[in-house]
Amino acid sequence: MAIVKVWVEEGCTVCNECESSAPEVFHVTDETSVIKGEAREDGNTDENEEAKSPLKGDIGVELEEEIIEAAEGCPVDIIKYEEA
Ligand code: SF4
Repeated sequence: MAIVKVWVEEGCTVCNECESSAPEVFHVTDETSVIKGEAREDGNTDENEEAKSPLKGDIGVELEEEIIEAAEGCPVDIIKYEEA
């Protein structure tokens, strides 16, 4: 299994849990968590809710556990992902 895409929906409480779990993928700004451009095929840094850009290279394989941990640890359940 691998995670193909990950995104953040509205309602982030900027608690920082996701960045602690997977700092290669998530960055928490003053307003919301975003998916880092370095981790995405489109290179953009934002919530990835609209673009749903795939993860780059092997990130979705190598960091699968960390991304799932981030999603499960999110207190407001707004981290979503697609697996293949
Ligand atoms: S874990 Fe959830 S609420 Fe906390 S910073 Fe990440 S996306 Fe926002």
